Amino acid sequence: MKITDIRATTVTVPIEAPLRHANGCHWGRFVRTIVEVETDEGLVGLGEMGGGGESAEAAFRALKTYLVGHDPARLEELRFLISNPTASLYNNRMLMLAAIEFACLDVLGQKWGVSVSEILGGRLRERVPFASYLFFRYPNPQTGKGEVRTIEQLVESAQSLKESYGFTSHKLKGGVFPPKYELECYQALAAALEGDRFRFDPNVVWSTETAIWFGHEIRNIRNDYLEDPVFGLNGMRHVREKVRMPLATNTVVINFEQLAANVLNQAVDVVLLDTTFWGGIRACIKAAAVCETFQLDVAVHSSGELGIQLATMLHLGAVIPNLSFAADAHYHHLTDDIIEGGKLKYEQGAIAVPSGPGLGVKLDHDKVGAYRDLYRRLGSYAYDRDPLRPGWTPVIPNDRWADPRDARAPKIPY
Ligand SMILES: [Mg+2]
Repeated sequence: MKITDIRATTVTVPIEAPLRHANGCHWGRFVRTIVEVETDEGLVGLGEMGGGGESAEAAFRALKTYLVGHDPARLEELRFLISNPTASLYNNRMLMLAAIEFACLDVLGQKWGVSVSEILGGRLRERVPFASYLFFRYPNPQTGKGEVRTIEQLVESAQSLKESYGFTSHKLKGGVFPPKYELECYQALAAALEGDRFRFDPNVVWSTETAIWFGHEIRNIRNDYLEDPVFGLNGMRHVREKVRMPLATNTVVINFEQLAANVLNQAVDVVLLDTTFWGGIRACIKAAAVCETFQLDVAVHSSGELGIQLATMLHLGAVIPNLSFAADAHYHHLTDDIIEGGKLKYEQGAIAVPSGPGLGVKLDHDKVGAYRDLYRRLGSYAYDRDPLRPGWTPVIPNDRWADPRDARAPKIPY
C-alpha cells in the first residue's frame, strides 16, 4: 500500500466558555487541523493536530513530498522520515509526526479489519476512566453563562460535571489567580465532593517554595498527584524531596531523553503521556513500557482534543498495563465534535474504546465543512494571551496573577 495524498483542513469548534490557564486562555473555541491520509487502495486514515490556536494546514501541505509513495505500514521509518532527531533541530515536526502516525494506524486497521488497540498489543480494558477537567472560565461571550471565578461557581461546576458524566476524580487547572486563593478553591472542592479524588495543576508557574508550601497545605486531601507545580526536572526534584505525594508532569518528561534523565535521578513519579507531544500512540506505549520497567506510574494527558485525538487517547488507555489514574480530557468542554454520531459519550466517568476498524471514528463531512467555515470567519486565537490582560506576559515563577474579584467579561468573537 502506498500513500497517494494528504489533506489538511482547519476547523474551529466552540467550547462552553473560554478556558483560563496559567499562560493565557482558550478564547471560546479550539482550533484543530484535521488530517486525511489517502492511499492507493482507496482507504483514508484520520489524524488531528492542535497548535496553540493556529492552523497547521500549510505545514502539512509541505509534508506531501515526504509522504506520497510511502507505505503507511512502515511506521518506524516514518519517524525518521518526518522527525529525524538531528534534522528536527531545524524543523520540529513531532506533533505532525503524531497526526500522520494516527492516520497511518487508522488506514492499517481498516485494511486488516481490526481496531488500533488490537494492532498495538490488544486491549486490557474496554473503557477508559476520565477525570473532570475543571478550569477557571470567562463567561460564554454569547450567553454570559459558564463563568468559573468564585469558589461557589467552581464547586457548582464540579458538582454539575459529576452529576452529568459520573466523574469521581477531578482536576483543577490553576496558575491563574494568587496561590492562596487557588488553595482555598481546591480545599473547597475537596470538601464538597468528599470521597472523590483530586489533582491540581498550576502549569509550572510557581516558585519552588510556593510549591512546597502548597504541597504541605493539601496533605489531607485525597490527591492523585500534584501536577507540574514548578518548571524543570531540578525544580521538581527539589519539591519532591520536601512534599510527600506523587508529582506528575506533562511538561518536563515528554521525550525519551527526559524519561531517561528522570529514571537516573528521579524527579517525577507519574508521567502523563500525550499522544501528540510524544509523536504518536506507539511512542507513548514505548514510554509506558520504560515506566513499567522502573515502576513509574503513567496516565493519559489531554491537549484540547476533538474526537480523532480522543480516539488515540482511548486506544492508548486500553493497551497500557500501568494506567494508574483516570485520564484527562478537555473533551467535555466542547459543544460538538466533527465525527459521525456526535461527541463520544461518557458513562460513569468513562468512555468506551471505539470498536470499529482503525481508530473507529469517521468524519462527519457536514460538520467538518461547517467548522471549517467557522474557522474562516473567526480565524486563529492567541492561546498564550489573555483577552482581558493585553499587556501581560506570564513569567516563571509567576507573580503577575489575575484578580479573582475582577468580574469583567472579555469581548471575544464567537
Ligand atoms: Mg498539565
